[in-house]
Amino acid sequence: MDNILTLAFLAALLVMSALRLWLARRQISYVSAHREKVPPGFADRIALGAHQKAADYTVARTRFGRAGLVAEVAVLLALTLGGGLQALHDFWSTRLDGLVYGVAVIFSVIAISGLLDLPLALYRQFVIEEKFGFNRMTLGLFLVDLVKQLALGILIGTPVLLAVLWLMERMGSLWWLYVWVFWCAFNLLMLFVYPTWIAPLFNKFAPLDDAGLRERIEALLTRCGFASSGLFVMDGSKRSNHGNAYFTGFGKTKRIVFFDTLLCRLQAAEVEAVLAHELGHFSHRHVLKRIGMLFALSLAFLALLGQLIDAPWFYGGLGLDTGNTALGLVLFFLVGPVFAFLLTPLLSLLSRRDEFAADRYAAENASAEQLASALVKLYEDNAATLTPDPLHSLFYDSHPPAALRIARLQAA
Ligand SMILES: [Zn+2]
Repeated sequence: MDNILTLAFLAALLVMSALRLWLARRQISYVSAHREKVPPGFADRIALGAHQKAADYTVARTRFGRAGLVAEVAVLLALTLGGGLQALHDFWSTRLDGLVYGVAVIFSVIAISGLLDLPLALYRQFVIEEKFGFNRMTLGLFLVDLVKQLALGILIGTPVLLAVLWLMERMGSLWWLYVWVFWCAFNLLMLFVYPTWIAPLFNKFAPLDDAGLRERIEALLTRCGFASSGLFVMDGSKRSNHGNAYFTGFGKTKRIVFFDTLLCRLQAAEVEAVLAHELGHFSHRHVLKRIGMLFALSLAFLALLGQLIDAPWFYGGLGLDTGNTALGLVLFFLVGPVFAFLLTPLLSLLSRRDEFAADRYAAENASAEQLASALVKLYEDNAATLTPDPLHSLFYDSHPPAALRIARLQAA
């Protein structure tokens, strides 16, 4: 059984890597082949220079993604079959025991992956984003962010991990059900805690003070029967030139947040249309459905882990000669995504379906024309390609290709 799992893991890793490399190669050649000409529907609105910048940015990021894949696979193999996790266990088990041992093992794995990811993150921000004019961060801000994230991770992660490991060890064979309930409760709590307590540690949120825009937005909210506890502008330009708008919170704590970068680029009617699209997600309960789906998936995964955690072959097949709660948990979260990778196109498909529904809602409650014009500007500003490889897009993209979205908006 050990050998079968080893072979299945290696086969899944090979399939995932081959598929990701193949899709990346398709994306690069498709985008490069369409670099010389702005696609017909956009010719009067997007300059050739902007189109080529988007092509080059897409190619640069896809190439970088390939390098990231190689690093990811190397770390995964080193930790599992390479004996890394076994070495961490040998080190900590002679020094600590019980729950503290478990937390030490898991934090060590997170620290090692984080350290190896750091040069990649630096390269992404200060070479790629910088080269295309998106980076607004200094190295100082990058480091301050890192320290804050680390402190938060330890502060929140330690009690959560202690609780999970405790439940796993004390709740008998149905521990996974208890962990699942705890995990769901923790996530729901974070939905309330994040906008009020955590997001302000990283950004400033000021009330939207543009009176004309406020009035427009409030009219839209009334029209859609939507109550919010405030309209805010976030200093997204502190880190990046990419623009966005989003909702946070639930019930009465619902806030609408605009990136300052979005507001300085779009006209009031376009902002209204973008917001109407976001309202569409709310009105169709996409957020709730997404959370429900994630909870159902995590229940399935935890139940599976409940079956694996006492099986010696689960550890033996993945490079360990011993097993326990903490090792089982960390092994599952290292190896699980390799097998779950094939769910990606399904999740992308569901997400794109929601985007179309939100667009329809925006067309009904604001203006399809204004949304289309905002989308063109956002594509241009974010250097998002207008000509993605269709298969690459089908597999990964959470949003439908621009041409398709705009065609549907125009039809509406
Ligand atoms: Zn959307």
